[in-house]
Amino acid sequence: MNTAIVWDEAYAEHDTGAHPEGADRVASLVGYLRQSDLWPRLTVRHPMPATEDDILLVHARAHLATVKRAAQGGGHWLDPDTFVSPRSYEIALLAAGGAIRATELWEEGLVPFALVRPPGHHATPDRAMGFCLFDNIAIAARRLLQAGLERIAILDWDVHHGNGTQAAFYGESSVLFCSAHQWPHYPGSGFFTECGEGEGEGFTVNVPLPAGSGDGDYAAVFAEVFSPIVRQYAPQAVLVSAGQDIHGDDPLGSMEVSEAGFAHMAACCFGLAQDLCARRLAFVLEGGYDRGATARAVEAVLRTLADERAPAVTTRAERAAAAVARARATQAAYWDV
Ligand code: ZN
Repeated sequence: MNTAIVWDEAYAEHDTGAHPEGADRVASLVGYLRQSDLWPRLTVRHPMPATEDDILLVHARAHLATVKRAAQGGGHWLDPDTFVSPRSYEIALLAAGGAIRATELWEEGLVPFALVRPPGHHATPDRAMGFCLFDNIAIAARRLLQAGLERIAILDWDVHHGNGTQAAFYGESSVLFCSAHQWPHYPGSGFFTECGEGEGEGFTVNVPLPAGSGDGDYAAVFAEVFSPIVRQYAPQAVLVSAGQDIHGDDPLGSMEVSEAGFAHMAACCFGLAQDLCARRLAFVLEGGYDRGATARAVEAVLRTLADERAPAVTTRAERAAAAVARARATQAAYWDV
């Protein structure tokens, strides 16, 4: 498979100081990939900044103005976790633009991984939180809907619940949002019973998992919950909020996923996109705070896409069996699972 990364050196200009989501995060990851034998096989593309109109597809004008004003004012904390520096507004536009650019690469037959920062999936329509200013993947999904697509699946494997993305689409069926995340954990949302509302009821799928869940647990979530539901939904594109903070070495999460587990999940996503939507698949970086572990996890995803195969993983829930069973029981009201 022809595989691409989307990134820009300017992502380091969102200066967060001594923060886990540090300025060097994406640069160090790309530096690692450059040393890898995978690098010559990767197509590298740079993003264009998203426009204000793109941001307003998801976010309130007042939220956009708050981020812009905070940056222009020299920077400050928008919440206890989320810092804005003088360049942060422009770089947040470039992060959303990276997710949009990734979806544009499908025309060239590429499967892309947008290596962007700041991350996005906690930014709600109204506010920045959890290191996130604008919801990059939600903005890319909105652009696809605007272009005429009618059904998009977003799979979110970040250790934290993607509350912002869930909020953006909670009341509609045009986006199926599926999240597996550590529970209990930040931001506190994402319980089984959060399934959408109104037209969107049944189009939000939450699988809160116990700390310590590993490769087999995540493989079971895909095999028994995400994959059957996504197949029934029959999306026209699959987007992945790829937070690499479920890696066993991550300092902010307590999960035990290895490189093989990431590869397996990437292969599941690729299989869905191959079978359902002509390989319209894009990964967008969310969290991942151990520099080495994040780099190896991203490499495992890219290698799986490039080779179109992954190492075998046992699909058996060890810690998460009860959570998987409860998610299936909950979703059985809407899907054949
Ligand atoms: Zn996270």
